[in-house]
Amino acid sequence: MKVEFLGGVRTVTGSATLLEKGSLRWLVDCGMFQGGKELEERNRNIRPYRAKDLSFILLTHAHIDHSGLIPKLVKEGFRGKVICTKATLDLCEVMLRDSGHIQEMEAEWQNRKNKRSGRDEGLPLYTVEDVERSLRYFQTVGYDEIISLADGLKVRFQDAGHILGSAMIEIWVEEGGGERKLVFSGDLGSSGQPIVRDPSWVEEGDVLWLESTYGNRLHKSREETVQELLKIIQEAIHHQAKVVIPAFAVERTQDIIYTIGQLIRKGFLPSIPVYIDSPLAISATEIFKRNPDCFDQETKDLLLGGEKPLEVPEIIYTQTTEESKAINEDSRPGIIISASGMCDSGRIKHHLKHHLWREESHIVIIGYQGEGTIGRRIVDGAKSVRLFGEEIAVKAHIHTLGGFSAHADQKGLLEWLAHFKNPQLEIFVNHGEEKVSMELSQVIQQQFHFKTIVPQWREKKFLFAPEKEVISEEKAEEVMPPEGKISDLFSHLDRSYKRLRRKWKRERSKGKEFHDPQRLRQLEEINQKIEELESELE
Ligand SMILES: [Zn+2]
Ligand SMILES: [Zn+2]
Repeated sequence: MKVEFLGGVRTVTGSATLLEKGSLRWLVDCGMFQGGKELEERNRNIRPYRAKDLSFILLTHAHIDHSGLIPKLVKEGFRGKVICTKATLDLCEVMLRDSGHIQEMEAEWQNRKNKRSGRDEGLPLYTVEDVERSLRYFQTVGYDEIISLADGLKVRFQDAGHILGSAMIEIWVEEGGGERKLVFSGDLGSSGQPIVRDPSWVEEGDVLWLESTYGNRLHKSREETVQELLKIIQEAIHHQAKVVIPAFAVERTQDIIYTIGQLIRKGFLPSIPVYIDSPLAISATEIFKRNPDCFDQETKDLLLGGEKPLEVPEIIYTQTTEESKAINEDSRPGIIISASGMCDSGRIKHHLKHHLWREESHIVIIGYQGEGTIGRRIVDGAKSVRLFGEEIAVKAHIHTLGGFSAHADQKGLLEWLAHFKNPQLEIFVNHGEEKVSMELSQVIQQQFHFKTIVPQWREKKFLFAPEKEVISEEKAEEVMPPEGKISDLFSHLDRSYKRLRRKWKRERSKGKEFHDPQRLRQLEEINQKIEELESELE
């Protein structure tokens, strides 16, 4: 069988793996790339398959970096099933709708800019309507159930303990007369995380896809982290100041509410206003409350005892922008939890603008901050950051609390890996920044002597096939490329051509530069190449 790495390799976003067995093709995750123009261009890029040729998508969890391109795939003709747990579907309903809305807004904003500069209009990646249509293709599966998807192909979802509904996926395939097993870790949670259960173990497997977000780091213990948060809040209360927590709407926000709630319930903190300033986080919290069967024992016990683990006495949900703005007029000390978690978009930017320059304010970073994001710059000690076209000084106390992470650290990953019994296990280390995946890969080789590979984007591999067959199959593809590939290439060429035309127009309007002899030479070369290509095509 064949595998192609379509995302989430040497980066943390865009998770997607294409698997092929005979005429059957399917994806594990179909995530969106996030973090910078170059990476995000991949969201529109050619795909090595036609959407309608895919039989199904196995979805590990609802985060957009795993699910975000599903509506685009449906728009392009995918008609198979998206298989995931019930809580994942519930969360996808709100998260994908939110994503569709963002796509529409961004395209609108971009088109206003395009109009002003005389460029062509572009389409959103997908719309809210595309999202609604795509949700019809979801089909839920329970944890631990083994289901058969085709002849010689079975799967099982197990709890990954990362966010509500998250799963690791085991896939059994009949290959060369025997049964082989693939395991996708998905995003792995850390043990002891509140609300969700600890990750399940897997003991058998031939090939493993292992996430590595924190593959080279160790988190502080949960207890220590909670103590740190307690101290920060106490200090803020003492100085009548605010604590601003950028948090992902799903899981991080609920964890923080739970933790602050526990501190208040146990009498360590007085009641203090906690603002949940993210409409998405508010909907996500409702979904948590609807899925108590996914909770860990501690949270279930609280519920049984009549407590409300996902609430605090003075919780204030702010839906509208007016309500959001009013938060900063409230002079009482308080806690503001807002998205996005990497400070790049959403209402958190307003709160940062309001608080970063205030010496008495506290900014508490609890989640992963991707390369190139505002959050990463703050964590790395920037003296100022640009927000809404204004340079804002960073004077507030900045705290990074790794212990709230929804991802296992290096120790957690290695402990989970230690359960595998097959010494021949092959591991693809994915879902991590390049350097981090490389480091984890080395540590695994040293400690376990497993074969590890850090794949490249768009790299292809043949699994379980002797080298001879691999070469002949590759050759066959050279002689007879699949038909989908040609139509993909045409549409890619079409887009490149349009882009080139636009650039060309812009260049022409700048006239002056054409007097540059070097520029002239370049243009002549391009011209010649185009003529050559044209004659070749005729
Ligand atoms: Zn995730
Ligand atoms: Zn992820």
